[in-house]
Order: sequence, then structure tokens, then C-alpha cells
Amino acid sequence: MTNTKKELLAIADSCVKCGICAPHCPTYTQTQNENESPRGRIALIQAWAGGNLNVTNNLLNHIDSCLLCRACEKACPAVVPYAKLIDDFRAEMHGEQSIPMSVRWVKILAENKRIQGWAKSGLTFYQKNNLQKTARFLHLPTLFGLGKLERLVPNYQESQPLKNYYPALNEVKGDVGLFIGCMGELLDFKTINAAINVLTHIGFNVHLPETQVCCGALALHEGDANTAENLAKQNKTAFANENLQAIITIASGCGSTLKDYAPNVVDISHFISQFEFNLKPLAANICVHSPCTLKNVLKTDKSVLKLLKQIPEANISSLPETTQCCGAAGSYSLRHDKMAQTLLNELLETALEKPTDYLVSSNIGCALHIAAGLRERGEDATVVHPIVLLAKQLVN
Ligand code: SF4
Ligand code: SF4
Repeated sequence: MTNTKKELLAIADSCVKCGICAPHCPTYTQTQNENESPRGRIALIQAWAGGNLNVTNNLLNHIDSCLLCRACEKACPAVVPYAKLIDDFRAEMHGEQSIPMSVRWVKILAENKRIQGWAKSGLTFYQKNNLQKTARFLHLPTLFGLGKLERLVPNYQESQPLKNYYPALNEVKGDVGLFIGCMGELLDFKTINAAINVLTHIGFNVHLPETQVCCGALALHEGDANTAENLAKQNKTAFANENLQAIITIASGCGSTLKDYAPNVVDISHFISQFEFNLKPLAANICVHSPCTLKNVLKTDKSVLKLLKQIPEANISSLPETTQCCGAAGSYSLRHDKMAQTLLNELLETALEKPTDYLVSSNIGCALHIAAGLRERGEDATVVHPIVLLAKQLVN
């Protein structure tokens, strides 16, 4: 038996098959199929590693249908490291399953800075010249197999070239690194801008090392362990500045991966929730969505509420604790459209039960998926990162 199989068996054996995790699992909740539950998936991997089950499409599909939301891990009394089991199994199976074209594109884009630059110019041209509306009307993205990806593209937003360093605007409190993620500059520039504004306003010198790259989450969860390892190495070198008090992340998905290999990684809302701000009032209904990576992995979701409650006149609520994954889950929505849409619809039904002006989310993948769902329903609610709302209300 190979060492990997032995390790997988050891993890799987730590599951006592109590089933406490099952009601927390979005895929099991939807399908009621034991093979689509955490316990079932663990048993499947256990059987394969023990030599009692061959690799079949069925086996691969059951493991592939896991969102890696890690709600099961949070609920598990035996502390089974479920995500490691799935990531390691997927790495063993890398190349066994075909990858949809849209997922290939996202991976290429995420892992190649030069292509990100071209994509940014292309996207600006596409959106500024109304090509987006025409292409959507003619269903061109769908014809080219990119329909699921194109629906996530937000409306045009202004951006400027980023600098490597932004000095503190007030009495200096120290230096921090800002991890902007592979998609932030392309699809969510306003969050990066807001993060720089708020951090420099508090008194932090903000460093954006030019050599930072994708956190590696996409590669890791796709089973591409070599790429994930290479990206991790580059980020460790990029942020190897001893003066940095913390590496601040603005997407909880990136933060949850980065924290496994880099020191002092903190989600921005958690980092700044220790400070008090002078804020303009905002008479609006703000509903907070807690991404799975923020609540199940980083476990700092309460900091977002604490932070937003500082905004005078804002009516802040959060989605119920029982709300499950929105279905975005990295590239999941591109591979499992039906499940992703079902989960998104459930979340939106709950969120829109009461009037909502802003739906706040701390992860870019979730925010794009939720915003696309709202657009398709013709809803007016705006999806924003909490730091964008805070920056907008700052009194200088
Ligand atoms: S993963 Fe944990 S909660 Fe789920 S069946 Fe195994 S031991 Fe129980
Ligand atoms: S990670 Fe999420 S989808 Fe996967 S088994 Fe656990 S609870 Fe279910």
C-alpha cells in the first residue's frame, strides 16, 4: 500500500460514522444520498484506499460534488480533517476527470499574471463598448461554452494601476501586507481600493508585493498539488518581510488557503474590528452573508457584524446560522450548475424575505455568484464587501 493510501486511511479511520455532520452538509440536504454526505464520501475514500473499491466515474463524481464548504468539519466532534482527505484524494485522482473549458480558463487566468493583464484590457473594451449587453442578448458566451463564467462578470468598474506601497495617512501604527488575490484587480477593484483607504487611514503602511500570486486554492481543490505548492512558495517569498505585522486578505477564500502556509494571515474585517471609526450615517438595510471560508475555516465571521454595527443608522442583520453554502465554492458553480443554482436560490429566498439594500459578503467568489443571481432576478440589492461600505462612510 502506498504512503498516500495509508495517510488517507488513517484520516478516514478517525471518522466514527456518527453522522452528526450530515444535516450540516448542503449536498446531502439537497439529495438525501449518503454518497453525497461527508460520512458517505469518507467511507468511499476509505474503501478505495483499503483496496475494496475501484476508481469509477461514480466514485469520482461523488467526491467531485463536494463543495469543500467544510461545514461538516466544523460540526464534527471527532475533528476529522475532512478537507485534507478530499484535497489529497483529488490530488491522487488528478487527470482522471475532464475539466470544463470555463474552469480551465479560470485556472489559466488565476495562475498567469500576464494573461490577467490582457484579460483586464479585453474586459474593459468588452464592457465599455456595450459588447457585454449585445453578447448576452445573442447568447454568444453560451455558444462558446463560457456562459456560466460570463454570467459572473460584474458591471464595469473604474480601476487604476496599483502601487507596491501606500504610506499611512495618520499616525503610523505599523506595516501590513495586502493580499489582493488573483481575481481582485480584474473583477473587484473597489474592494482593493477600499482596503488601502481604510488601512492607511488607521495608520498602516500598506505593502502590495508585486510578486504575489494566486493563493493556490483553485489548483489545490482541483487536485493540482504541484501548481498549488509552486504558488505557495512564490507567496511566501513575496511576503517574507519581517516588518509586516500581518498579511491582510480581502477574500476569505484566499485567506483560508494562505493561512496554511504563511504566517499572521488575517481577514481584513477581523483585523480592523479592533479599531473605532468616525463614520457618516447610512440609513440602509444591510444583510450580512458569511462565506463558508469565513465561518467554517477562519472562524472570524462575527467581526464583520461588529465592524458594520459601527455605521450610524444602518440596520444590520445577518443570514441565519443555518444558512448553507451559496454554491459558488471556487470553481464549483462552473462544474455543478444545478446544485450551485439550487443553493443560491435558497440563500436568496432567505436574504430577500425582508427589504435589503446591501448584501455584504467577504469573499469575491460568493459575491460574484450572489450578484449574478440578483441580476438575473432583477433585484436592486447591491452586493459589496464590508470594507467597501466602511470606506464609503469614513469621515476623513
Ligand atoms: S465526519 Fe465527524 S461528524 Fe461526520 S460521521 Fe465522521 S466522525 Fe461523525
Ligand atoms: S465540505 Fe460541505 S459539501 Fe463537502 S461533505 Fe462537508 S459539508 Fe458536505
